[in-house]
Formats: sequence, C-alpha cells, structure tokens
Amino acid sequence: MGGHWRFVFSSSGDPIRAAGTKVAIRGKSLLSILASSMSGVGESLFATLFPSDCRLCGTPLTNISRLPVCQRCLFDMRPIAGGVCSICGERLLSRYAPTSEQGGARCGLCRRLEPPFAKAVAYGSYDGGLRELIHLLKYDGVRPAAAVLAGMLADAIAGLDSCWTQRPAVIVPVPLHARKRRQRGFNQSELICREALKVKGLTDRMALHAGVLERHQETQSQTGLTRHQRRENIRGAFLVARPQEIAAREILLVDDVFTTGTTVSECARILRRAGASKVYVATVARTLKMEVKGIGLPDALEEEEQTMAAAR
Ligand SMILES: [Zn+2]
Ligand SMILES: [Zn+2]
Repeated sequence: MGGHWRFVFSSSGDPIRAAGTKVAIRGKSLLSILASSMSGVGESLFATLFPSDCRLCGTPLTNISRLPVCQRCLFDMRPIAGGVCSICGERLLSRYAPTSEQGGARCGLCRRLEPPFAKAVAYGSYDGGLRELIHLLKYDGVRPAAAVLAGMLADAIAGLDSCWTQRPAVIVPVPLHARKRRQRGFNQSELICREALKVKGLTDRMALHAGVLERHQETQSQTGLTRHQRRENIRGAFLVARPQEIAAREILLVDDVFTTGTTVSECARILRRAGASKVYVATVARTLKMEVKGIGLPDALEEEEQTMAAAR
C-alpha cells in the first residue's frame, strides 16, 4: 500500500539523531543542542573516519559530534544545588544561612553592601568538567562547546523568569578588549548568547545588543588582589557605547564565568549610570565557597568573617 510506504520513508529524524543517547539537564534534553552543533555531512564523515577521544576524560568517543566531549562528562555537569544567596548566587554556609527566610537569604557581602545588579544567577559551579568545557571554548577555540554552554545559560536565565516586567529584555554580553577579541577570534560571552537565543522561548523575550558595552582597558589579572584593589583595577575599563539602547530598559548582562563579581558589578554600575532601569546577571558558571561539610569549611568561614571585618 502506498500509504504504508510513505509512512516508512517519512519517519521523522535522521538515523544518527534517533540513535543518540539523551543527555538531560534539569529534565531538558541536550540532544537537540548537540544535534544542532553537528553540521554538514563532511564533518560527520570526518568524525566517523577519525574518531577522537573525549577531551575531558580521554574515553574514546562513539557519538558523531563536533564537540569532542563524551556524554558522560556532559551529564556530570550538574546545576548548583543547595542554598545560595538570593542576590549574588554565592553558596550560603550554614552559620550565615537563616533557615526561616527561604528564598530571600543573603550572603554576608550582599547583606553589607547592595550590589549594582539586582540578581545574579549561574548554572553550575566553576570547577571540574564545566570549567574544562569553558576552557575548551576560550583557550582551545572549540566553538561547538558554545551551544552546550548556551543550553546551560538558558537554564540559568529561567531562574529570572519572574523578574522581567519588560519584553524583550536587552541582553548585553560582557565585552572583551578589541585586541583580545582579535587574538581569540570571538567573544565567548557573545557567542554563548547567540547560541542561547536559539533555545526555544528565549528569542521572543530577549534581544541581543552586543555593541552596548565596550572594553577600553585590558585589565591585569585580578588574582591575589583584595576586593577593593579589584574594584580599583577594573574601574574605567568599560564604557557604554550605545546608551540609547539601554535607557530605562531591563538588562540581562551575560558572562561565561562569575568569579569575584568585580567585572559584572562594574558593568552593571556603568549600565545603570547610563540609564538602565535594572541589571540582572546570568553566567554559565560561578565560583562557589566550599561545601558546608567539606574540609575547607573553617577557612571559608574565616575568609568571610575577615572580609566582613575589613569592610566595617
Ligand atoms: Zn568524557
Ligand atoms: Zn550574595
């Protein structure tokens, strides 16, 4: 019967996709993102003829993908679990986490000083495989990693769903200095934003304005500097090149990583000074204080107490 044959040959999805193993992040399938990162028969053929090892764990890859990372490693990149600061997303240590005000708890820093951004969200902890995946993109130029990181960013952005009163929100990626951008060939934050906007549901709610911010100074490494020194180090590094695009608008500032928060705080500060009504921050990853049960707890607590004392 003709109808039967049509049914057989029009079954949806190509054989490669159908055979793929699903990777779920908070219940969402990453398969679509992975599948969209495969493009062209030539590249698929190349991967089949010259299979590589996972760049994170060394396991031989069996799946056809432009991203040289195995599904096990991707699956292990879990979202942040446990109590976090409702403003900056820092992990809350038990001594400072009031159990009664679930959802509104703040870390020591945010209780002392209101950050220039309204709220910062991140998908995962900046360590292990996620840190390596971000490095694959930034330092090894493995661009297909951007699509996977974008899936995670979209997941983090969903945590801001109740915050928006305007549509579309203006997405502003943290810029690189022109020289660094030339060197790298791309701005990872912008690349991740562009991929994230392909995620269903985001396109009609967010609009990318990549040229709003410019970075005019190459800042030195922030490592080893105090909070105050970091702020001084970065002050004046950015400028708002197109204030008309953000006037009275709600902004989603996007970076790949939130480490000390100095960079996004400075960007949020000048965006607000240039007229933005509110600035929210989303990053793929965030550095977190050590686990409450971890061996480093006394150090982490001591550090927080010192920071609090220093600011008095
Ligand atoms: Zn692996
Ligand atoms: Zn905080």
